[in-house]
Amino acid sequence: MKINKPYLIVGQGLAGTILAHHFHEAQIPFQIWDSPLHFNSSYAAGGIFNPVTGRKLEKTWLADDLFPYLFEFYTRLEKHLNTSFFHPMPLFRPYANDEMKGWLEERKDQINHEFLDWTDQGVWVSQAGWVDVATLLRRSKSYFESHGIYFLRTYQEQDFVNFEKVIFCEGFHAVHNPLWAKLPFLPAKGELIRFKSDEPSSEHILNKNGFVLPLADGHFKVGATYRWDEFSQTPTDSSREELIGKLTSMGVSKFEFLDTFVGIRPATQDRRPFVGFLPEKPLGIFNGFGSKSVSISPYFAKAFIQEIRGEKELDFEVSIRRYSHLFSV
Ligand SMILES: Cc1cc2nc3c(=O)[nH]c(=O)nc-3n(C[C@H](O)[C@H](O)[C@H](O)COP(=O)(O)OP(=O)(O)OC[C@H]3O[C@@H](n4cnc5c(N)ncnc54)[C@H](O)[C@@H]3O)c2cc1C
Repeated sequence: MKINKPYLIVGQGLAGTILAHHFHEAQIPFQIWDSPLHFNSSYAAGGIFNPVTGRKLEKTWLADDLFPYLFEFYTRLEKHLNTSFFHPMPLFRPYANDEMKGWLEERKDQINHEFLDWTDQGVWVSQAGWVDVATLLRRSKSYFESHGIYFLRTYQEQDFVNFEKVIFCEGFHAVHNPLWAKLPFLPAKGELIRFKSDEPSSEHILNKNGFVLPLADGHFKVGATYRWDEFSQTPTDSSREELIGKLTSMGVSKFEFLDTFVGIRPATQDRRPFVGFLPEKPLGIFNGFGSKSVSISPYFAKAFIQEIRGEKELDFEVSIRRYSHLFSV
């Protein structure tokens, strides 16, 4: 692969950061630019990865491929950055009620898979845990700065001639970028709260219509809310009430709220990421990772590098080729 100029990665959220590390590992020259003007939703993330979803305890999309790679990748990156941010941890899903318990147990043979361990109170999920996204982002920023390839700046179109290709990782802000505005994004605002308590377990993530995530020193996070009607960075009273309700339903009654985090998930209408280059243009996108960026983005960063190197085309399901009709005018 012959490259004359570096690539430009626009945006140092989780998506841009994960992609940048894959460029770095593949020894493809690049710069990463992050905006001082746009807010970054990744700092709000709980950072949880969980291979099980829904009331029927199904495996998440591509779990058998995504999860082995995410363990391999984050472990390797922790060593490379000499920083701890990857926290595998069991996740417990209590039965919602006796009716649900009976319903699931009757269908146990059809539902069961290798990520589940059934008990009388609920189901344990293996290969779950959380990534301390804020630590990963800060450490990556200083790492790329020390290599002279990180810049705090927004772009102008005339900047693009200095680069082999430009890959936009602008998260939810992509909806305001005319290049990508036609893609069917479905952004979802979310809030979570960090709190102090001596009630929840610090040994596992509790997941019951929300989650309680143990941090350190008796600190936890409760999350997360979803709304689609407004996309400000401001916390709302109704979300706070909702999070208090989640805490109560998870058996936490005494707590001290410490701070609130707000972000906009760059979700998509077909619930699949947007990856790839525009036809005939050196402009690409790595976005649309919704509420599962931590588990999905490493696998597709690897796949994107394979496409860039001409080794293997991206799956149609994630490639923006599936929306080529939107770009043909
Ligand atoms: C409350 C909440 C909880 C969540 N919990 C989880 C979880 O437990 N697990 C999980 O996997 N995911 C979770 N998510 C989702 C996750 O946070 C997102 O999928 C992820 O952060 C998206 O990352 P991103 O890099 O695409 O976008 P962002 O983090 O928003 O990053 C975009 C970056 O692009 C920059 N930018 C934008 N425009 C420009 C420009 N013109 N020039 C230069 N830079 C630009 C911005 O400044 C920003 O730094 C959660 C989200 C929320 C809101």
